[in-house]
Amino acid sequence: MEILVINAGSSSLKYQLIHIETGQVLAKGLAERIGMPGSNIVHEWTKGEEVFKKKLDVALQNHTVAFDVIAGLLIDAETGVIRQQEDIKAVGHRVVHGGEHYTETQVVTDEVKQAIRELASLAPLHNPANLIGINAAEKAFPNAVHVAVFDTAFHHTIPEKAFRYAIPERFYQHDRIRAYGFHGTSHKFVYEQAVKHLEAPDLKAITIHLGNGASMTAINEKGESIETSMGFGPLAGLIMGTRSGDIDPSIIFHMVEEMDMSLDDIKEILNKQSGMLGIAGSNDARDVIRLYQEGDKNAILCYEMYAHRIKKYIGAYMAVLNGVDALIFTAGIGENNELARRLCCENLSGLGIELDVQANAAKNHPSQVVEVNTAASKVKILVVPTNEELEIAQQTYALVK
Ligand code: ADP
Repeated sequence: MEILVINAGSSSLKYQLIHIETGQVLAKGLAERIGMPGSNIVHEWTKGEEVFKKKLDVALQNHTVAFDVIAGLLIDAETGVIRQQEDIKAVGHRVVHGGEHYTETQVVTDEVKQAIRELASLAPLHNPANLIGINAAEKAFPNAVHVAVFDTAFHHTIPEKAFRYAIPERFYQHDRIRAYGFHGTSHKFVYEQAVKHLEAPDLKAITIHLGNGASMTAINEKGESIETSMGFGPLAGLIMGTRSGDIDPSIIFHMVEEMDMSLDDIKEILNKQSGMLGIAGSNDARDVIRLYQEGDKNAILCYEMYAHRIKKYIGAYMAVLNGVDALIFTAGIGENNELARRLCCENLSGLGIELDVQANAAKNHPSQVVEVNTAASKVKILVVPTNEELEIAQQTYALVK
């Protein structure tokens, strides 16, 4: 069975067509600048072992048009990988916010769409775009079952003592202000890969997802998320590409009251101009590595701060879990940046965490699970390539098979 996986943004659409029995990606692509001048689609497809790629500069007035073009590409004689549109029986949609109610993947119904719409106030950048994607895909693939996979769902097991903020109760009861957590699909996927690899069904792990966005999750021996570093929104926790992560909220009051800054300015600074970009001048970890190697002071400080924050969370999550069996690094930086992993694991032998520095450098960019701890390390250190699309496809399949 082929499952189409969709990640819709306000002006973009990422898609993958996955053959669920083999996990093979038959085709994938990205439509960009939807509704703007210069819109285009980059489409990749496989024939046997070979991968082909084509860029189409094509007017995409809206997401519905984009899906029609994508559907055409998937069945086209040259670029296609299926015979007819009807062969796609299920479409899995990434939806960022499922609120408290949606703790599991759902078949899309009018009620589910209404809930995604209502949750837009909690995820204003993502949920409306995800919903546009769902509506447009339903038009393009009317015979398929559409499924919503929520980024927040995996974190529904976080206990109240961990998800509540110590502010008056009405803000939780009435206004739904609590920690939700994100990147759930990735944390769940890499945890399950690690369980399989280590043959340890009761694994206690800390998953460390380090991409442009970054978050960590404490996962108990039952495979449940019990703490995560993002909170009400994705600004909390770790230092990211352009987001600050945790800051003292009094800084915001100071900026408003003493520096005459507007909330819009502050929002822009904390979301778009902070993190690695704010400290080292680039949000691309590769640029910052280069600067680090040249001895640039800001780049060195940036990596030190980045790793220090992660270490604080490792310590906190080891306490929350009462010890840990494995640290799991994943996503762009977690998988490919041996420097970041090395600094995160430095001087943690007191906690039983010992990185094998040579293995860590040699096993950079793995295509499957690798171990990079020393033989003496009590805690396993794993690098696990994430695959959110495959996880969405599997969860979709589980509902429709
Ligand atoms: P997103 O959150 O957008 O999915 P990714 O998971 O692709 O992000 O991660 C992007 C980050 O990974 C960037 O900071 C990039 O510099 C970093 N990265 C990717 N490849 C490498 C590499 N070979 N070495 C170091 N960092 C890398």
